[in-house]
Amino acid sequence: MSRYEFTCPECEQTIEVNESMRDATLTHGCPVCSADVTAADFAAEQRTN
Ligand SMILES: [Zn+2]
Repeated sequence: MSRYEFTCPECEQTIEVNESMRDATLTHGCPVCSADVTAADFAAEQRTN
């Protein structure tokens, strides 16, 4: 499953999310401060071995 690191542009909280949490955050805003967020606020998490 894809994971993303979300960084809120407003409160600067960094939260690790999965794809469905990413969609929910894009729809409902930051879970901490409810700021509007865009896809650009998510970085795909790279897993290196
Ligand atoms: Zn926030």
